[in-house]
Amino acid sequence: MKFLILDIYPNDDWRLVKDTAGGYGTGNDFGNSIFSKAVNFFVSKMISMPPMYALYIHSILKNRNVSVEYERNINNKKLIEEADYIIMTTSIISHETEINFLNTNIAKNKKIFISGIFGNVLKDKYKLKNTFIVPGEPENFFLNLNLDKNELDGFFNGDQKTQINNYVDNLDDLPFPDWSYYLKKYPLKNNFLGYNKKNAIPILASRGCPYSCFNYCTYPLQQGRKVRYRSPKNVVDEIKLNIEKNRTNKFVFRDPVFSINRKYTVDLCEEIIKEELKIEFLIETHLKNLDDDLIALLKKAGLKLVYVGIESSNPDVLKGVKRFTIDNDEQYKLIKNLVEQGIVVKSMFMFGQPDDNEETIKRTIDYSLSLPNQLVQYSVFTPYPGTPIYKAYEDKIIEKKYEKFNQYNLVYQHKNLENSDIIKLKNYGYQKFYSNFKNLTTVLKSFSSLLR
Ligand code: SF4
Repeated sequence: MKFLILDIYPNDDWRLVKDTAGGYGTGNDFGNSIFSKAVNFFVSKMISMPPMYALYIHSILKNRNVSVEYERNINNKKLIEEADYIIMTTSIISHETEINFLNTNIAKNKKIFISGIFGNVLKDKYKLKNTFIVPGEPENFFLNLNLDKNELDGFFNGDQKTQINNYVDNLDDLPFPDWSYYLKKYPLKNNFLGYNKKNAIPILASRGCPYSCFNYCTYPLQQGRKVRYRSPKNVVDEIKLNIEKNRTNKFVFRDPVFSINRKYTVDLCEEIIKEELKIEFLIETHLKNLDDDLIALLKKAGLKLVYVGIESSNPDVLKGVKRFTIDNDEQYKLIKNLVEQGIVVKSMFMFGQPDDNEETIKRTIDYSLSLPNQLVQYSVFTPYPGTPIYKAYEDKIIEKKYEKFNQYNLVYQHKNLENSDIIKLKNYGYQKFYSNFKNLTTVLKSFSSLLR
């Protein structure tokens, strides 16, 4: 019995990743100025990764002695034809490409498990005679799946009723993703701005996020609002395995808010330090979950690069989307401390929020320049189907193609702004930030501190 995990993408000139934005994916289109196009090209060549659940499914099936392959190339007809079952990943940024594939003759003759949160949200589009929508977290489904052929075929003739819970209860039950298999076919890059050139292994220590921004965010949709954790020992065992098998010391934690639980974060860092792993890692977190002592401990454990969501400098704009955060002075102090510890900080801002206008966005750009962060990201507020906020936007969506919901376009009718304004503001922001002599010097300094 052969399974094929098919993970397909449109042909765009920018980086496309399905794992980000809670499995909806993002397409980093920084703008259309010469400068922004150069950044698009650079990032698309330097950073990549597959959806984590695809690699988890691969390991789950392999451990159950089933033949399973992972493939991104839609033209690999032989692999597709030979598969008894296809497991197709889904995302908003590849939606039309995925649906086009499902309508090809080769796909129509296959039994296809549709996996991932977007396939669940847009069931009507993905449900065809020969498809089955895998409910909830696909790892849980494939862990518990009866692999008898008749049982499997039952999913495609309506005989099979699934009783599987949405989420994996105990994350330590999951096998480790087999990145050495993946690396034989595809690179795992994250060399942005000179961050060391070894493979960057994605790793998940926790899943879920309970914060108020669930209103517009897709992570709680994919992973739930209750936070689940792996034991620190289980995480460290996976790190050790990758150090040994993949000869790297570089890891990208894909947790939605890495330091959401202080005690857990301390335990994990202490385990990493105790085992003398000497790793370098990247995390994404919320500034309100950092303090001076925790920053020092994270640094000792190997933190090199941290992404923090700030979104806007304007409290009223943030209130408009129910995002509650710490005040601007506190943000400055924490970022300064991180930078002084030799940690590179990327602050992430969001343009086109409902109460934004050109003035609030320009002030946010000025604010991003006033902070000590070495890197910035300006993305665009996107009302995603499936999120609570979407109901209020359904009638205002102006973008017809879901693949354009890549977090870098204005997809709804905004009361003050057009998409062309947003593109100009992105061009202006990136150029202003990265051509500023002070920032350029900081970036160059950060290169040298990160280069080995
Ligand atoms: S903090 Fe907010 S934006 Fe970040 S993952 Fe949680 S809900 Fe989403």
